[in-house]
Amino acid sequence: SSRFNGIQVAPPIEVFAVMKAFNESTHEKKVNLSVGAYRTDEAKPWVLPVVRKVESDLAADMSLTHEYLPILGLDSFSTAAAKMLLGADHKAISDGKVTSLQVLSGTGGLRIAAEFLHRVLKYDTCYISKPTWGNHRMIFAQAGFTTVSEYRYWDASTRGLNFDGMIEDLQNAPENAVVILHACAHNPTGVDPTEDQWKKIAEVIEEKKLFPLFDTAYQGFASGDLDKDAWSVRYFADKGFEMIATQSFSKNFGLYNERVGNLVFVVNEPSNIVPMRSQLTLLVRGSYSNPPAHGARVVSAVLNNDALFEEWRGCIKTMSGRIIEMRKALRERLEKLGTPGTWDHITNQIGMFSFTGLTAEQSKYLGEKYHIFLLSSGRINMCGLTTGNIDYVAEAVDDAVR
Ligand code: PLP
Repeated sequence: SSRFNGIQVAPPIEVFAVMKAFNESTHEKKVNLSVGAYRTDEAKPWVLPVVRKVESDLAADMSLTHEYLPILGLDSFSTAAAKMLLGADHKAISDGKVTSLQVLSGTGGLRIAAEFLHRVLKYDTCYISKPTWGNHRMIFAQAGFTTVSEYRYWDASTRGLNFDGMIEDLQNAPENAVVILHACAHNPTGVDPTEDQWKKIAEVIEEKKLFPLFDTAYQGFASGDLDKDAWSVRYFADKGFEMIATQSFSKNFGLYNERVGNLVFVVNEPSNIVPMRSQLTLLVRGSYSNPPAHGARVVSAVLNNDALFEEWRGCIKTMSGRIIEMRKALRERLEKLGTPGTWDHITNQIGMFSFTGLTAEQSKYLGEKYHIFLLSSGRINMCGLTTGNIDYVAEAVDDAVR
């Protein structure tokens, strides 16, 4: 007998299962369009040169130790990250209305935010977009939210935003519901609201007394421009919303496994910050005690040095630029092949992902026949495309759709 008898096998996490299928495939032309990470045109991971440089400086710095960081992390990182998000001279910052803490990347930031909203503010309902990043629901449910509802987002017929549906669903949300918004480069659809649409979303959130939470996982990675990609968050901050934003440095710094993130609060009354930080301290202490230092030191070094910052901006332009090129290349090829359907959504969408409109069946066919691996939702990671495999992929998609 065992205490552990009878435990059900949990369902696999699709993206890791697809990754495994890719790794196990021996097909010489296999293509991985599933994983959420940047790849070079040689389909290789990329350590940003500016990151390499800072890492070698850190390795040579004999004054650095492996002592614990404070519970709320490295201040020089967290402060610079909040400025990067809101803009260095945002009034909320100079008015002392912003506080932030280093967390375990985007995921950890969302989890601590959810714990805080649930345990401290006693919120129990949140709204996520339909569809959204697969982890949102689990994070909020595991943190104690009893209702995780969806607001309409993707419109399969236009392959764009279902704006009216979104607004209607938010209008029907109960007071204090937390609305999780993707600051830019919506995952998985690649579809973002326009500036005018954001204004209307803000109006409804204000009117219905909802609580905005911006998941910012792709700042700079989407358009190549840090300010442009933060437009939605800054607009809400300009409007005087109290809100939370999580920042991930996984994609824009290529620091995936270092777990570098920041959790930012914008508040109306600065006097609330001391008690808030004390509660956040307990939440972090009871979860993982304190965050790791290495990645935060790298990001801090870059954000706090003009020359390194410029170099990094070049790197995000390289990454976002390659993605935009691949979008154009894929669309061009599909249109040239006369692949049934319209393909302008490929270039209208932004960021790492594209919701192609391929069905689960077509996605499966691509895996089985061509060893091109993507999620059953038809989401592809544009970074998986290279000048070397784009013709192969376009022809395979053409075959799958016919
Ligand atoms: N939020 C969104 C929308 C994402 O796409 C991701 C990563 O794929 C994350 C958050 C969190 O990633 P990480 O925990 O690596 O920062």
